[in-house]
Amino acid sequence: MVAQVMFLSPLPGLRGLLQRCWGHLEHGLLPSFSRSQSPPWGPALALQAPAFLPQPINDTSESNEVPGLLDSILWMAAPKSRHTIEVNRCRRNAPKLLKVKRNIDVCPECGNLKQKHVLCGYCYAKVKGETQQIRLEMRKKERGQFSAPTVETAVLYDGEKPTEKDEGKRIIERARKRLSWFVQN
Ligand code: ZN
Repeated sequence: MVAQVMFLSPLPGLRGLLQRCWGHLEHGLLPSFSRSQSPPWGPALALQAPAFLPQPINDTSESNEVPGLLDSILWMAAPKSRHTIEVNRCRRNAPKLLKVKRNIDVCPECGNLKQKHVLCGYCYAKVKGETQQIRLEMRKKERGQFSAPTVETAVLYDGEKPTEKDEGKRIIERARKRLSWFVQN
């Protein structure tokens, strides 16, 4: 037992009396600690229940005559065992977990599966790579970041020659065949 009484009393006689009482209390209580494991004033479970507890069912002869208390109780369904948190989370999030996608289409260009109304990822990667290459060639011609000319750019692939439309344009040549989807305009 750890207890401290801070008592600032102006009367020394009262303080002495309190100290003596406290000493008597400690002497009276401390031996009982060592003798018994649990102190007699330890916490205990207290139940508050009505005096008429439900009687066991085995006395069937009497319950036939008198309508018992149990007949008037509506017994609710109660879970017999606790579900784990994983089971509970699965049940709560079941609509969000997996959904069957029905908006899947075949890409007309490459044949891979793609979502409807969405660009095909494979074709997008191809276009992106080719555009990156063209941009690199343009940068080689420009020699510097801020010296881009203010003229249009025409991209010519292998075996192509500039037409009348390409007059006055900057010509970028690519050393490969023209890709089917990269139309010449
Ligand atoms: Zn595609």
